[in-house]
Amino acid sequence: MERQIQKIRTLRNHLSAALEWSSVDKGLILLVMIIPIYGQYLLWSLYVLSRPDRERLVNVYLTIEVMKIEIAFMIMGAITLFLGLYLRKKNPDGLFFQHLTLHFFSLTLVAMSYTIGTASFCAGLVLLGAPVFGFILLDRKAVWGATITALIVLLGLSYATAYGFIPYAPVMVPAIDHASILFWMNSVFFFAAPFFILIILMADQMLMWWREREDKIRHMSRTDALTGIHNRMSILSILDREVARAERTKTSLSMVILDLDHFKKVNDVWGHPTGDLVLKTAAKVLKHNIREIDALGRYGGEEFVIVLPGADPLEAQKIIERCRVKLSEAEILSDNHSLIKVTASFGLVSVNGHTIESHTLIKTADEALYLAKHSGRNRIEIKTFEAV
Ligand code: GH3
Ligand code: MG
Ligand code: MG
Repeated sequence: MERQIQKIRTLRNHLSAALEWSSVDKGLILLVMIIPIYGQYLLWSLYVLSRPDRERLVNVYLTIEVMKIEIAFMIMGAITLFLGLYLRKKNPDGLFFQHLTLHFFSLTLVAMSYTIGTASFCAGLVLLGAPVFGFILLDRKAVWGATITALIVLLGLSYATAYGFIPYAPVMVPAIDHASILFWMNSVFFFAAPFFILIILMADQMLMWWREREDKIRHMSRTDALTGIHNRMSILSILDREVARAERTKTSLSMVILDLDHFKKVNDVWGHPTGDLVLKTAAKVLKHNIREIDALGRYGGEEFVIVLPGADPLEAQKIIERCRVKLSEAEILSDNHSLIKVTASFGLVSVNGHTIESHTLIKTADEALYLAKHSGRNRIEIKTFEAV
């Protein structure tokens, strides 16, 4: 049971990553959809031939011929499928297979639609609907190529019938009574149903996956991969936003740059992986000791920035002092179980309702940090900021 759930979960994860599938896998999904559809059409042919009134509904001879074509399409689809399974290992990102399957998909469907009339609801649905989800999942050039080819062939067939070179809807016997009108209407719905369902469901799913992927990418672009806090770009944009807000609302804003003390030694003595662990722990401790509305980001290697909206120098000092103490109390175990202690130096700067650029704030905080380093480390230095 547990295992089956795991299997279903893995399959779901694989499906939801459809946008990342290899080019050949995306072509294979088209075949997996189209082959059963020809099976469904074959069933329709068998059904109509089994009806006692078949002569009044279809051209029996041509229906049998179309059945053969449907079987041929299924066999061609299966051969293409095997080719795909081979290419999947050989050249999974080659676009040839997508061009091939898309042309197979569209041209065989155009051929089928000709048998019941090119100007039908089915042809329109496929011609318009298939590119909609095709453009989301597949290579756009391959989709354009197959759509244009299908359109040209469809127009060619339509005009050829209009000028009397070939008959229109050769399989169909013109409906004369209510029963045959009803039969053909139901048949067209039966032909269109799988496309209608597939196109709508796939487009909805694809767009959902697209949105999920976009959220994930947006999150990743703002997050520091090691510590999980804001990365440099993100924390600087938060700072910009808060500087603008503080100026607009004439409220206080504090910010801190902090730098771990003698961090190079941690790397030198215990190695880089332990250094990484120290960085992660430092981020966790800081995050834990700031307020909900404060933002913490990794500014550089072992330098962090904290933005404290609304905090005046006194309040900011209280929060940062708590961070300093908790950080110095944190106990980190290295790989060989030795205890590592870490401290940091802090440069704090506050502004209250003044017009100021964020780079000036950073520069000032950096100067305060420099002072903290040179006055013995593991301390906070506050820069009295002279506003312009
Ligand atoms: P100070 O007290 O003056 O700040 O001394 P320090 O040793 O901390 O300063 P320094 O700037 O010389 O050293 C910073 C070190 O941080 C150097 C670099 O190897 C290390 N470092 C930077 N990024 C990472 C990282 O992502 N992981 C690890 N493990 N180390 C890093
Ligand atoms: Mg440094
Ligand atoms: Mg340092």
